Amino acid sequence: MKPTLYLDFDSTIVNSERAFCAVYNQHYQHFEDFVPAHEEHAGDWVFRHACPLIHQRSADPVAEVRRIFGLEDFFSHLEFYEGAFQTIQALKSEYEIVICTSASPENGSKKVMWIEQHMPFVDEIIILVNKSNNGVGKGRVHMLEPGAVFVDDHPANLRSTEAQRKILFNYNGRITDYNRGWDGEAVSSWTELYERLMMKG
Ligand SMILES: [Mg+2]
Repeated sequence: MKPTLYLDFDSTIVNSERAFCAVYNQHYQHFEDFVPAHEEHAGDWVFRHACPLIHQRSADPVAEVRRIFGLEDFFSHLEFYEGAFQTIQALKSEYEIVICTSASPENGSKKVMWIEQHMPFVDEIIILVNKSNNGVGKGRVHMLEPGAVFVDDHPANLRSTEAQRKILFNYNGRITDYNRGWDGEAVSSWTELYERLMMKG
């Protein structure tokens, strides 16, 4: 039996920051103090620095961030990180491919359809819908199978499971508020991840 490769979705397989900023730029451009958002300024999940108008103009910024993540528009802007699609397809010969991702109900339902449409070869999709915002998230998925590998851009997610091998996906080597402090295995591109996972011994 092939070992399981658990893959996070947002900011690991796809450039969620870029899609989020694109939607923000469309929806907020009519404000006079609008400055176009750029993915490189997105250092936290509520986009405090990249998308300040959400925090200045919205009564409930967290709800607004969740709303954007659940929009059809967000998914139409979603792109794979360079090499992600080809690498996952190639790794399928060696691994059972499981996507493990957190979501709101609106985001999760559209995300499943996006994955089905763009990566029909994925073996399984685990969507964690944490409605209270205080759940243990990915820690509910123990990843105990021998040889299980887990790749995520968030160190807290990596720490919360028992996967045998945990790899931080750190796109372009960027350090943000939430990914600092990880001293385990890390990669900054899908090419590097492929090389590491195909290395024998
Ligand atoms: Mg992620």
